[in-house]
Amino acid sequence: MTSAEQKFIQIMKEITAYDEAISLIGWDLRTYIPKKGMDHRSDTIGLLSNKRNELKTSEKMKALIDQLKTENTTPVIKKSVEEAEREYEKFRSIPSQELTEFITLTSKSETVWQEAREKSDFSLLQPYLEKIVEFNKKIAEYRGYDNNKYEGLLDDYEPGLTIDVLDQVFGQLKTALIDLVKKINQSKVEVDSGLLLKHFPKDKQKSFSLAVLDKMGFDFDAGRLDETIHPFATGINPYDVRVTTRYDENDFRMAVFGTIHEGGHALYEQNIDPDLHQTLLADGVSMGIHESQSLFWENFVGRSRAFWESHFDLFKDHAPKSFEAIEFDHFYRAINEVKPSMIRIEADELTYSLHIIIRYELEKELINGDLAVKDLPEAWNQKMEDYLGIKPANDSEGLLQDIHWSAGDIGYFPTYALGYMYAAQLHAKMNDEIDIDNMIRLGDFEPLKQWLTENIHRHGKMKKPLDLIRDVTGEGLNPTYLIDYLTNKYTDIYQL
Ligand code: ZN
Repeated sequence: MTSAEQKFIQIMKEITAYDEAISLIGWDLRTYIPKKGMDHRSDTIGLLSNKRNELKTSEKMKALIDQLKTENTTPVIKKSVEEAEREYEKFRSIPSQELTEFITLTSKSETVWQEAREKSDFSLLQPYLEKIVEFNKKIAEYRGYDNNKYEGLLDDYEPGLTIDVLDQVFGQLKTALIDLVKKINQSKVEVDSGLLLKHFPKDKQKSFSLAVLDKMGFDFDAGRLDETIHPFATGINPYDVRVTTRYDENDFRMAVFGTIHEGGHALYEQNIDPDLHQTLLADGVSMGIHESQSLFWENFVGRSRAFWESHFDLFKDHAPKSFEAIEFDHFYRAINEVKPSMIRIEADELTYSLHIIIRYELEKELINGDLAVKDLPEAWNQKMEDYLGIKPANDSEGLLQDIHWSAGDIGYFPTYALGYMYAAQLHAKMNDEIDIDNMIRLGDFEPLKQWLTENIHRHGKMKKPLDLIRDVTGEGLNPTYLIDYLTNKYTDIYQL
């Protein structure tokens, strides 16, 4: 090993040590910290993040990148150097004074957003959002883009994806979904999710969730399950991956499907190739690919007929007596009810992507100057009516429902729907090789987990998202797999 390689490995270890510390105290901040400890803790995270970013943008790092680019080195170091350079340029592209202003602006606007949402008054947030949009336009300019300014932002979350591709796949998906929603609205089949809303004690929900997580292949010696208000999964290091969930004693769906979802994220983090540990590559490759792993387990496994055929008895063993009389078919339909609703995070798996497409179209228009912030509420409500057939009664259940824009995150939303399309495409490919439903019916998830580890998880950040998808499935992003999956599933449930 050359001396430059040794130094580079050492600096990566330092960076990942900061990552680990930040993730661990971040997990604590969102789970068990006493209320009074929060302020100092936020300061500590900010301080450690600065230290980490100083390392990433240091002269020492720059010199190592330049030197190693000319050396003949291992594939892991070569790719890590590419990643280090990407991050170096990302942080250096924005003048630090402007970055500090932006961070101050967004932390203030998050607080204003909470008040605006409570009062359902968009005018409170409007001046902040105007500044945030202007800042993001500048960031896009600093980062650079080929054809569309919005690409300068999207690239942060889904590297390599272009607006041309996104417009095309979202366009196809939108047409198909709007059509399906219309047909479902006209269906005579009664689906009643109300029958699920029975009291279900927290400890019993937890034991069922743990049993499912165990079957998925979650390694409890390298992770744990805890409680929080806004559930998430976090890889502190690949041998310490934590899932969090929230229990609603009157609606078990939140914890059960939430745990399966976060468990899917966790399997990704737990199964990254050990050769990548303590490098810049020991992480999910993009937000979209990460979400594909959670949605694969939550929807393609957890909401499938096969899953409930084999796990309904186990479920009833944990559930109170009041669930005993529910017939299987009613139950299966109830957990798959489609009903256009105002709130994205409560949406069913079919209408969910329409919520995302609305946000994508609007934020792209904002960044390209085709829509003014002041006109946002009207544009939002119009799209809700056009795509979902419902109109928000106020801004709280309209454009004030999500924190993302007030937190400065523009370009993030598309990744949720991308994850869904990736998941469907991977599911179709896996099904060519493994009889997935049969395995699920047997309660044997190991082949599914192994397939995902082999094709996705172990690679960490070694491949770009679209290269990863192409290598596994033999083609680029293709929305027809998701459209076919949803069409087949809901044609059966609603007898379309
Ligand atoms: Zn997720």
